[in-house]
Amino acid sequence: MDIRSDFHTHTNLSACAADEVTAQALIDGLCTGEDGLRVLGISNHLWDSDIEGASEWYKPQNVEHVISIRKELENVDTHGARILVGAEVEFSADCRVAITREHAALFDYLLITANHVHMKDFIIPASMTAPDEVREFIISRFLSACEVDLPVKCGICHPFFPMSFPKTDNEILSGITDEVYGKCFEKAKKYKKSIEIHTSVFGPHLPHHNDLGAGDEYVRMIGIAKETGCTFHIGSDVHKPFALPGIKLREFTKYMGITEDMMTDF
Ligand SMILES: [Zn+2]
Ligand SMILES: [Zn+2]
Repeated sequence: MDIRSDFHTHTNLSACAADEVTAQALIDGLCTGEDGLRVLGISNHLWDSDIEGASEWYKPQNVEHVISIRKELENVDTHGARILVGAEVEFSADCRVAITREHAALFDYLLITANHVHMKDFIIPASMTAPDEVREFIISRFLSACEVDLPVKCGICHPFFPMSFPKTDNEILSGITDEVYGKCFEKAKKYKKSIEIHTSVFGPHLPHHNDLGAGDEYVRMIGIAKETGCTFHIGSDVHKPFALPGIKLREFTKYMGITEDMMTDF
């Protein structure tokens, strides 16, 4: 059975998306046609003003701003799809989730981002570039993010993706042993954190053998998460009304033998 949901998408409420990506444009692009989504989660970038330490980029992307999508959604044509309001919430350098419990309850679900390692000297020290160090950094933050305790269902988005390390990402990922992944995913399962099946699995420069073009390291990682008994959600991370990344992720999910009953019920 085809899994027709996507919980990681952005609209123009995210500073990195173009102005024309309104909620309606996103829904028109993703929730129509034969392949259209039945469930769409919108997850704009968020740092709650009540949590100290937002960067200049994050400051305008506060709760009031991100939750305003509810108003926008009052007047959209959903084409019959169920639309959920989530957010992609930052996890600070000192491992605090950037939203209060009170504000978290305003959302249908939340995605916690533990590895925005492209945010130099904000999330990761700019001097940290050695693959061994970046790997340990990403692992420890994944483990910490699992412990986040909020009154809504949460997922971990783009797990272990070494953003902005294209030359060393395979070295970073291949150094994570099956045992370490096992411990990480045991923790995610214990704390009920959904594992995202993210577009990063198609890192074009990663060694890969399967027909879909998914990196071997991601096939291994998601395979261990599946063995561990984690639940999953699809997250295309589209910033445009562009359905193809999500459709490719459904094919990858099928390839991994992940079925509807293993998907998180957000
Ligand atoms: Zn992200
Ligand atoms: Zn995102």
